[in-house]
Amino acid sequence: MSLKIFINGRLYDKEDAKISVYDHGLLYGDGVFEGLRSYGGKVFRLDEHLDRLYDSAKAIWLEIPLTKKAMADAVKQTLQVNGLVDAYIRLVVTRGAGSLGLDPNRTSDPQVIIIADKIQLYPPELYEKGLEIITASTQRNHPAALNARIKSLNYLNNILAKIEGLQAGCIEALMLNHKGEVAECTGDNIFLVHKGVISTPPTDAGILAGVTRQAVIDLAEQAGITVRQVPLTRHDVYVADECFLTGTAAEVIPVVKVDQRLIGSGEPGPISRKLQARFHELANS
Ligand code: PMP
Repeated sequence: MSLKIFINGRLYDKEDAKISVYDHGLLYGDGVFEGLRSYGGKVFRLDEHLDRLYDSAKAIWLEIPLTKKAMADAVKQTLQVNGLVDAYIRLVVTRGAGSLGLDPNRTSDPQVIIIADKIQLYPPELYEKGLEIITASTQRNHPAALNARIKSLNYLNNILAKIEGLQAGCIEALMLNHKGEVAECTGDNIFLVHKGVISTPPTDAGILAGVTRQAVIDLAEQAGITVRQVPLTRHDVYVADECFLTGTAAEVIPVVKVDQRLIGSGEPGPISRKLQARFHELANS
C-alpha cells in the first residue's frame, strides 16, 4: 500500500502527492519546516515543534493557513492513516505558487505538506561506537543574514558543511559561527562534558533551538548534572571528556573523534550513555 501524504487537508498517494513547480518553496527555498518523531504512536514534544514552526513562519512573514490545533490533528491523522507507530514526520509549509520573482506578495496558497515515514539517519552501530566528525570550513549562517533559529527550507548552508564532512569520510560535521565559536552540527545540536559538567552553545550562538537539545538539558538537570549554556571554542571540544549530538532524527549520539583528536578515551562516555538511555525512556514513556 502506498504511503498517504497530507497536502492542504487532503491525503494523496505518495506517487500523486505533487505541488507546483512555481511554488516559491522550490524556486527560492521560501518556506519553513519541522522534523518530528512519534514513539509508540505518540508524537514527541508536538507542541514545541508546532511552536517553533509557527515562530519560523512568523519570522519569514508567512501565514500558516491552519491553526496549531488543526495542524496537530493533521499530523496525528497522517500517522494514523498510514498505520505508523514509530515514525519520522516531515512538516513543510511553502510560500505557495506565484509568478517568477522573489516577491512573496505575488504568491498564493501556502502548501501545507505532511509526510510520515521511517528514517534511519545513522547506522545503528554508531550509537554504540560513537561518531567521528570534522569541523567544516563553511561557517554557520550569520544570524543577521539568516537566523538559524528559523527552520527554513533553505538548508544549503548546512548541506555545504555536510558535503565537506562526507568528503572527509564523516557523516556529520561541526559548524562554527561567525565569531569562530562552536555553533552546531549540520542537523544536530552539540554537547560537551568536562569534569562532570555539561556545556552546550547558547541559542544566540547562531543555532537552531533544538527540541531534543532542550529535552536533554532537562533530563541532565533532573539527574543532578550541571548544564551550562556558554560560548564554546574548538579547543573546548578537543579537551572535552565526552561529546554527543542531539536531534529529532539523530536522537542522542556520542561523538568519539573530532578533527582526528580522540575525545576523552575515544569511547562513548558515561554521561553520554546515561542521557542516551534516559532519552529513550522519556521518548517511549
Ligand atoms: N540543528 C539543526 C541545524 C537542525 O536541522 C536540527 C534538526 N534536525 C537540530 C539542530 C536538532 O533540532 P531538534 O532536536 O529540534 O530536531
